[in-house]
Amino acid sequence: MQTPREPSAVPRTNPAPPRFLKNHPTHECGVFAVFGHPDAAILTYYGLFALQHRGQESAGIVTAKQSDTPFASHKGMGLVAQVFGMGDLERLKGTRAIGHVRYSTTGSSNLKNAQPFVVDTSRGQIAIAHNGNLVNAAQLRVELEAEGSIFQTTVDSEIALHLLAKVPDAGSPLAALRRMEGAFSMVIMGENEIIGVRDPFGFRPLALGRLDGAYVISSETCAFDLIHAEFIREIEPGEVVIIDEHGIRSEWPFRRAKKAFCIFEYVYFARPDSNIDGTNVKEVRVQMGRELARQHPVEADIVVPVPDSGIYAALGYSEELGIPFDLAFVRNHYIGRTFIQPTQLIRDFNVRVKLNLIGEAVRGKRVVVIDDSIVRGTTARTRVVNLREAGAKEVHLRISCPPHKHACFYGIDFPDPEKLLANQMTREQICEYLGADSLGYLDVDAMVRATRREKNGFCMACFTGDYPLPYDAAFDKYVMENRRGKARLLPATQQPSLLPAAPPEAPPNV
Ligand code: AMP
Repeated sequence: MQTPREPSAVPRTNPAPPRFLKNHPTHECGVFAVFGHPDAAILTYYGLFALQHRGQESAGIVTAKQSDTPFASHKGMGLVAQVFGMGDLERLKGTRAIGHVRYSTTGSSNLKNAQPFVVDTSRGQIAIAHNGNLVNAAQLRVELEAEGSIFQTTVDSEIALHLLAKVPDAGSPLAALRRMEGAFSMVIMGENEIIGVRDPFGFRPLALGRLDGAYVISSETCAFDLIHAEFIREIEPGEVVIIDEHGIRSEWPFRRAKKAFCIFEYVYFARPDSNIDGTNVKEVRVQMGRELARQHPVEADIVVPVPDSGIYAALGYSEELGIPFDLAFVRNHYIGRTFIQPTQLIRDFNVRVKLNLIGEAVRGKRVVVIDDSIVRGTTARTRVVNLREAGAKEVHLRISCPPHKHACFYGIDFPDPEKLLANQMTREQICEYLGADSLGYLDVDAMVRATRREKNGFCMACFTGDYPLPYDAAFDKYVMENRRGKARLLPATQQPSLLPAAPPEAPPNV
């Protein structure tokens, strides 16, 4: 625990505008698929609703009726509810569907880059929806263009489509995917099948379920609950699940790798009502709060979360120390995006519109305020100012993960490392900058303990700098737009850490 500072040193000015004003993505992508249901489009629509937290920039659904009719597609910018009207869903006929909600980790946010992508090949149509980032995207694109591919978008996901489209007649489409490196949980629709693919590291989640004899695939299990689908199992790292009229089977086309599931899914990205690797996300977050309380206890009157991201960690913190939990920040759920040019007056309102503080709940009290993470520090700084202005006696900030210090190359959008607060200041300086009396982050071991999983099965690169897969150090999310014909190749010393091809202990097929 750090020594409380004098509240007089607290900054009183309004900090920079909150992130929802910054034309800044908030979450990563979500994918969903249905095979063999007469209401495939409607199920996918609701599946995407449940995955909305994973991407709010664009949404899309592609359906297939039978093998000789063209796919039907509808996609647009914005939230699922904005993109689809009833007429759109009625036009999306068929018993197979794939869907996508997008947050851009590569490529700009525009309709051209909205997924799923559809392409016509000599073998028929293929549609694809992807969550993740290919680390060799620029390199592959140069190679594919040299082989004659013409790209429509600036998104790495289109690369998978070209790889699949270019398979020679005797070749296996799945073998084509072997050229991809990076994070990819994706669903693919062909003329007769639906395919779920998860990269050999298993960076992003992907689950398989069943409903009325149909199969469903989803980024997260919370979507199964909504449509009353039964969870069957996770699609394993390196597994390709193929569902067609003959049933369901698995293939293992990739070289084997050590599992590296993104721990930040547990900390922040996934929905609390999802289960990942057999563990409920909410339970992990409560446990992170308990661990945080053990590592950074403080005498206080109330524990207040920053909603929604800090709620479950705050519950755990409060339970562990026996300090009352209070939802003193009230969230306005109806903001959406605003593009009003921020004058000083508007900036001031915008700081307050997302969360309002119930002053009476905190006045004269020693408050522990809990959030899941600090990236640039905007959120934490704003909330500490709110608490001070409302008359909190002390403000102790607790964060349920370690400091973010490194870029993510596997599907999460963080700013440049130099813009991450933890790289700009010491812990004491951060505490002072945020205006808190004390600051405590959960450490790596305690964060892992909270998951009740093995440490070596996680990617924690954003905290540790230990990257499980080589990446293009010059990568930025616009790499496909800024290439000017040149791929930045992986440093020669960085060879992919893949093991020889072989299926892992394959889970039983269903
Ligand atoms: P900041 O205000 O920049 O420090 O961002 C921290 C807040 O953003 C926390 O409340 C997190 O819940 C949330 N957050 C964390 N990581 C991300 C991300 N990659 N994209 C969007 N929001 C994030």
